[in-house]
Amino acid sequence: MEVLVAEKCGFCPGVRNAITLAKKTIQGKKEVHSLGPIIHNEEVVRQLAQAGLKTIDSVDQISTGTVLIRSHGATQKELQALEKKGVNIVDATCVLVKRVQKIARVLHEEGYKVVIIGDKNHPEVKAVVGSAPDVEVVGDESDLDKLSKYKKLGVICQTTQSPDFFANMIGHIGRLEFSEIKIINTLCRETMSRQEAAVKLCRQVDIMFVLGGLHSANTRKLAELCKKHNSQTWHLQNWDELDISILSGKRIAGVTAGASTPDEVIKEFVDKLRQI
Ligand code: SF4
Repeated sequence: MEVLVAEKCGFCPGVRNAITLAKKTIQGKKEVHSLGPIIHNEEVVRQLAQAGLKTIDSVDQISTGTVLIRSHGATQKELQALEKKGVNIVDATCVLVKRVQKIARVLHEEGYKVVIIGDKNHPEVKAVVGSAPDVEVVGDESDLDKLSKYKKLGVICQTTQSPDFFANMIGHIGRLEFSEIKIINTLCRETMSRQEAAVKLCRQVDIMFVLGGLHSANTRKLAELCKKHNSQTWHLQNWDELDISILSGKRIAGVTAGASTPDEVIKEFVDKLRQI
């Protein structure tokens, strides 16, 4: 089978940095915790757990040792609680996520009602909400009604949303009666280039595979995007999940992967597919 791999796919710099820091931090230390799964990939989380990285869901679960803040970041409240406990904090928050948090604070200080376009349940969005007072999350058009009482709106976006979704929401906001709207583009270029490369590849192949964790929001978005451009798109976690019968009659396969998919998973999948 001919297999084409997206020009950009797999670990983004933010995730790669978090994994490197995690590996370095667990060396020689007894109690190392990650506040939330270090990345949305079960296999990586399992391997790091075996090496000593314990995942906790809340700051209440730690009183001593070291805590690693993952690339999605943590809220100010969580960071303050950890500082108060005196635990050692290793901050792997992605610089681009930190930028969004800072912009939220600056917009608030400038008197804007801060609005973040994104998924209110995503940890990055939760961390941004917790980094400045009174930040509102807008997930879709129906959420826009709750903003009508404000005059000055400061708009930012979850880093991993698609440019189309961001533009669409900005279009809707522009039609509402705000006297002032300040928009800061906080989309992640790494995510955008992965999405662009995936769409380009979808158009050249008979079947498209998107590799990555089922809980990884950016992988799911990548798969949704690919599905729009190639109906024969499959979101799989790894080679073991592939039902070979779906390859019947297909000549060229495309492979891309979310920002939390390890290089080995991509390599194994591509190598085995090429052997078919
Ligand atoms: S997807 Fe972008 S913003 Fe998110 S961790 Fe990776 S580089 Fe940072």
